[in-house]
Amino acid sequence: MSHGTGIGPTSLARLRAALRNVEWLLLYPVLVTGAWLLGLEALTMALVILLPVLLALDGRLGRRPGAQSASHLVVQPLDRLALQRIVDDTLADCTRRDRTTAVLHAQIDDLHIADGEWGTEISEKVMDRVIQRITTAMRGADIVMRTGYDGAVVVLAPTRRADLDVVMSIVDRIQAAVAQPISIEGRSIRVHACIGICSEGMAPARSGAAMLAAADCALRMARQQGNDAIRAFNPDMQAQVETDHRLALQIDDALESGQIRPWFQPQINALTGCIAGFEALVRWHHPDLGILSPAQFLPTIHSAGKSAELGEQVLKASLDALTAWDAAGIDVPCVGVNVSLEQLADPRMAERVIWQLDRHDMEPGRLAIEILETVTLRDADEAIMRNVMALRKAGFRLDLDDFGTGAASIAHIAKFGVHRIKIDRSFVAGIDSDPTKQEIVRAILGLAESLSIETLAEGVETPEEKATLVEMGCPHLQGDGIARPMPFEKTTAWARALQPHSNAALRNMHPQGTA
Ligand code: C2E
Ligand code: CA
Ligand code: CA
Repeated sequence: MSHGTGIGPTSLARLRAALRNVEWLLLYPVLVTGAWLLGLEALTMALVILLPVLLALDGRLGRRPGAQSASHLVVQPLDRLALQRIVDDTLADCTRRDRTTAVLHAQIDDLHIADGEWGTEISEKVMDRVIQRITTAMRGADIVMRTGYDGAVVVLAPTRRADLDVVMSIVDRIQAAVAQPISIEGRSIRVHACIGICSEGMAPARSGAAMLAAADCALRMARQQGNDAIRAFNPDMQAQVETDHRLALQIDDALESGQIRPWFQPQINALTGCIAGFEALVRWHHPDLGILSPAQFLPTIHSAGKSAELGEQVLKASLDALTAWDAAGIDVPCVGVNVSLEQLADPRMAERVIWQLDRHDMEPGRLAIEILETVTLRDADEAIMRNVMALRKAGFRLDLDDFGTGAASIAHIAKFGVHRIKIDRSFVAGIDSDPTKQEIVRAILGLAESLSIETLAEGVETPEEKATLVEMGCPHLQGDGIARPMPFEKTTAWARALQPHSNAALRNMHPQGTA
């Protein structure tokens, strides 16, 4: 809904387009004179009053020549279908008037930092300001819509040219507007936007659904590249879009039939060489495409709103695995299960996890819930905090994933009640020959120990990295150099073959990849 007018965004956009139609405006005096000559006084008066009112509504009276008008802003976040309808209407308008359009999808990279440092209220204000700025940077009848927590979609009003040059200059304007410092309550905050573009000429099909999917795909590629990146959809990305689309249609069946289930990657105790646990890492055993990794299908699961179902499958398989290891006499202290921000934002998440655990009659301490550092930065989010606190209270372990990649301090994490931090792979890769990494990891280990938080080094690949970490006293290790993730069926044989090590033996241990 547009602000204050009570008319839908598409009708308002159409009215604005009509007001920009110069031919129609040239006919207007003829209409007024005709009504006057025919003696239709009321109609004459109505026509005379109507035009200035419409122009004023459109913001075109009293504007300096050459000044740009702010575009049309749709304040309320819209669902996907409403978005598609707006793009469909714009495309129909383009056909009628021999014009073209483009869809841009912007996502703010670092909103969670504002969120974590200053709370949701401030980050909401930041997002409001960002949307306002994008709106001001756009022209006339362009439509700006907020999507989700940190996104905005811009639909260009029908225009003569929307090729890459033109669209890139618009994108530059948007990025420049977003990058200006935002001052809120005495603070100066800077954020950046990644942008995915789909111009009509490059669209895989001429429909709102296709253009939005293509802009999403381009945005995903941009985000893989990192901060501030811009990517325009091109036909090479088409295969990805088609696969995503196909996967989206198959998710329900795949979840139901058990095609989507976790593999398990061992974690070992660095001193003894015994199993410290396993991490459950989801895989899709796709009948045609083979084994798919999370990066290939998690975004599709998320867009399809199936994160909770995925979480349940992984949790159930992990509890089944623990039961089976116990029965086989293999000592596995705990299994780590990854949960995403979306899963944690689901108000019933903790309740469901606790219910599953009860059904399996399992000790809560056997399950480690792996949360990302960015989650601890969302401590103003009630639903997330309620879930985390409920899980902790119920006795689950909390592992902090990818530590060092976000902006959280160890002191902040300690407040959160995390049991163990998992030092990110980026600090582990090449640690044996990098004194800076050694210093960072040593500092993390020292601080964590003084706060009674356990530590695990992720992504240990080489014997040299392993030896360095053991020497530094890192208690737990995980990585392809210990063993790669493997299907459950292979875990028992792997565990039986594992010999507990002395320190010296561990230093010389060779990788034993399985899958
Ligand atoms: P993560 O939680 O950081 O998991 C570790 C990732 O690093 C895994 O990738 C693992 O296979 C990979 N890895 C382990 N050791 C090494 C190593 O020595 N070298 C290298 N280069 N990589 C190593 P994977 O399985 O592709 O998972 C990627 C991400 O997907 C995970 O990152 C996690 O964030 C997410 N994920 C996986 N399973 C689930 C799940 O069940 N639910 C949710 N929400 N997310 C999941
Ligand atoms: Ca993890
Ligand atoms: Ca990790």
